[in-house]
Amino acid sequence: MNKPSRRGPQRTCTACRKILDQSLLVRYVLSPHGEILVDYGRKLPGRGVYTCCDTDCLEKAVRSRQFERVFKGRVSITDAKGLQQSLVEQIQQRVANLLGMARKSGDIVSGSRLVLAELGRVPGLSLVLLSEDLSPTIAAKIRYAAEARGISCYVLFDKERMGQLLGKGERSVVALRCGLLAETISHEILRYKRIAGEA
Ligand SMILES: [Zn+2]
Repeated sequence: MNKPSRRGPQRTCTACRKILDQSLLVRYVLSPHGEILVDYGRKLPGRGVYTCCDTDCLEKAVRSRQFERVFKGRVSITDAKGLQQSLVEQIQQRVANLLGMARKSGDIVSGSRLVLAELGRVPGLSLVLLSEDLSPTIAAKIRYAAEARGISCYVLFDKERMGQLLGKGERSVVALRCGLLAETISHEILRYKRIAGEA
């Protein structure tokens, strides 16, 4: 898990030249077909190029032809919009995987009634996810209860996808119990929102 506080290998953003822990940067590699690929999980082989996890640095890297410079004439296409889209999808997939882990470790409460009941009871919930297609009335109720406890609410996935991730039918409200997983998930969601332009 990429805890931002843990010190790991340092890498340089190819756009702004900032040196950061590599877990805070996004890695890109060159495919055999000369295409730049986002390697959010930092698992693909080959030489990697890094940028900050924001659209400014991504766009700047493309505009100033940093990928061409590093991969010396082997790049066939770089498309900032396409890279951004791929990054959004990969972060979303990371959140989905983490939710699956949280389900297995029993760190999830799901369903609007259960979440509302738990929000009104003891502290212990860390964040709440609302599906994109949740009814506005219920969303307002949950937000109100969560805010009263200082808990953040994020809108992500539709209820069908959320249900699939939890191995259930449709789920429109999901809350996470406090812990490392919840922290990591909220960190990834914030990144996602920033890259998707929703922050
Ligand atoms: Zn940067």
